[in-house]
Amino acid sequence: MRRICVFLGSNGGRRTAYMDAATALGTLLAREGIGLVYGGASVGLMGALANATLEAGGEVTGIIPQRLVEKEIAHRGLSDLRVVGSMHERKALMAELSDGFVALPGGIGTLEELFEVWTWAQLGSHGKPCALLNTDGYYDPMLSFLDHTVEEGFMRRAHRDMLLVAQYPEQLLARMRDYRAPNVIKWIERGER
Ligand code: AMP
Repeated sequence: MRRICVFLGSNGGRRTAYMDAATALGTLLAREGIGLVYGGASVGLMGALANATLEAGGEVTGIIPQRLVEKEIAHRGLSDLRVVGSMHERKALMAELSDGFVALPGGIGTLEELFEVWTWAQLGSHGKPCALLNTDGYYDPMLSFLDHTVEEGFMRRAHRDMLLVAQYPEQLLARMRDYRAPNVIKWIERGER
């Protein structure tokens, strides 16, 4: 993996563990020689991740829509800052530049971005790993709900299991490196479980 795209909160969250996780991931990416692709903001967890990567000598590409340059305070110290015309362009470019995707704790922006790349993977549009850093169990309620979608026949277990989950960045990176995309059709036949 040459570059990994990270989705995460533009807010910092209540627990220091979230900031610590963003910092730890940034430092690890730099140490492993993996470039960071992210939303280009200098605020919240996004800013903490970018700063940690840069401080450890890593490469950071930020992609931000013009409309958010002021609101999310575009990070001016990045290796490469790209200002694009829309949210759609932002996500398309992030996906194109990256060999895998990670979500850290965040709000609906983070969720939207993660679910989009995961749904593309489920349809077979790409075979890149999609992963979740479950710091302090932040995502436990969502993971339970995702199991519920399988139990109720709306998602295959194989597609649910495509989302790699780990508590710590090192574990997550190891899982992403081992990942092989399943070759399973999305739609569930009647009577099949
Ligand atoms: P949040 O998790 O809500 O703090 O948002 C994290 C990041 O996702 C921020 O940089 C938001 O601008 C971004 N974001 C929110 N909605 C979208 C979207 N539809 N497409 C691309 N990025 C988005």
